[in-house]
Amino acid sequence: MAFYCHRCGSALPTGARFCSSCGTVVAGAAPAQSRPLMRPRAGRQIAGVCAALAQSYGWDVALVRIITVVSCLFTGGLVGIAYLAGWVGIPEEPLDASGAYPPRI
Ligand SMILES: [Zn+2]
Repeated sequence: MAFYCHRCGSALPTGARFCSSCGTVVAGAAPAQSRPLMRPRAGRQIAGVCAALAQSYGWDVALVRIITVVSCLFTGGLVGIAYLAGWVGIPEEPLDASGAYPPRI
């Protein structure tokens, strides 16, 4: 089922998140791979808070980490406290019951 950009009317492929003609975020389109907010066990640097946010919202994890570090410096550690709150508050990804290693991402 094709759908169309609500702004410019261009036909969009299924699963598109942005209009390729005008760049508008397509409302109602589900993210391609949304997952619940969980700290992953693989690919983390400290506690996996940045990786959890990046995976959950479809952002680039390197960009999230850079923004976190820079904003931590410029807010006097306020973002660092938020990071700690995320460490405590965001649940950790459950162990893979299949025992496969490396764990699937
Ligand atoms: Zn458009």
